[in-house]
Amino acid sequence: MTQNSNILVTGGAGFIGSHAVVALMKAGFTPVIVDNLSNSDASVLDRIEAITGRRPAFYPEDVRNEVALTAIFKTHAIDAVIHFAGLKAVGESVAEPLRYYDNNINSTLVLCRVMAAHQVKTLIFSSSATVYGDPPSVPIREDFPLAPTNPYGRSKLMIEQILGDLFVADSGWKIGLLRYFNPVGAHESGLIGETPQGIPNNLMPYVSRVAAGTLEYLNVFGGDYSTPDGTGVRDYIHVMDLAEGHVAALKYLESQHAGTSGGDFGPGPLIVNLGAGRGYSVLEVVRAFEKATNRQIPFRITSRRPGDVGVSYADASRARRLLNWQTTRNLDAMCADAWHFMLK
Ligand code: NAD
Ligand code: UDP
Repeated sequence: MTQNSNILVTGGAGFIGSHAVVALMKAGFTPVIVDNLSNSDASVLDRIEAITGRRPAFYPEDVRNEVALTAIFKTHAIDAVIHFAGLKAVGESVAEPLRYYDNNINSTLVLCRVMAAHQVKTLIFSSSATVYGDPPSVPIREDFPLAPTNPYGRSKLMIEQILGDLFVADSGWKIGLLRYFNPVGAHESGLIGETPQGIPNNLMPYVSRVAAGTLEYLNVFGGDYSTPDGTGVRDYIHVMDLAEGHVAALKYLESQHAGTSGGDFGPGPLIVNLGAGRGYSVLEVVRAFEKATNRQIPFRITSRRPGDVGVSYADASRARRLLNWQTTRNLDAMCADAWHFMLK
């Protein structure tokens, strides 16, 4: 794999995938996008082209469609795959577990089968800090117990296990399992960002809409956690830092001999947290957003959201050590870029 390598990006039209496509192009890679547009819009291609000056190849296909995926591998000499495609709404996964397991797990099975058939064995998978469930302590290290609390999180853990089994069966694979903390913000151009449909579930898109006046006030879910101000603490990571983490992981896997990609955990998939390594409370996010927008964010403290943990943030030292990567954009930049995108 060289800098000109073709990287298949599943889910590349989505929030994180589109930013990763921009980061890959900036690093000299050639992304090929496959996305069924179930949670995104093809217009993101125009925006990627406006940012990078180039238009990546795009296939509006479902990753579970083995015939379509095979045709893409026949058309492009794919060197590695980053697998973002998946459904990600926790509440929806509780209501529709079969759809979640089908989409997330079957897309991975089909993808790996087609990759193997074409001797493509370098894969990066979008996992999540949700696999840790309620951690025994913070910061969360990669060797902490894994205990997801909902079907979405369990689908992520199952896929991690499936990819671990694949590595055992054939150590020619180089696999990266990247556990993301809370991705927020947008590309500095304001051209690509997060556009959730309907009323947002996540804090930052919700706060953006309150700042814009389309939602009246923020419900702060819980003011009685054992945190300095009583509100929940999370590890927010700028989506461009996260995108660049994928480029670093790709380069790391490339530098490893097949069969050894697990770093100091020994042979196995590479497992790393991608987070900033520090937490901010809901009220700290509100204040940072007020500063970035020069607007007031009205809020009301309400009861805790079922299933929420009080504090979650990463031990980000493994990513720093192995990938030579760390975040460079702070909470102010996350808020400013999220707002810039909202205004555009
Ligand atoms: P997103 O919904 O914006 O992007 C996912 C993309 O995948 C969408 O464009 C969607 O249309 C596409 N897709 C879904 N199923 C598909 C299928 N079967 N075939 C083809 N395309 C399909 O979500 P995102 O926030 O960019 O998340 C990307 C990945 O990162 C997901 O796997 C998600 O679970 C994971 N992740 C996200 C977060 C987060 O907070 N955003 C945190 C941890 C992990
Ligand atoms: N949160 C909140 N109000 C909202 C959305 C989220 O108070 O409308 C809180 C939530 O309880 C958590 C933090 O903001 O403490 C981040 O929540 P989000 O849903 O963005 O991410 P999570 O870490 O739950 O995946």
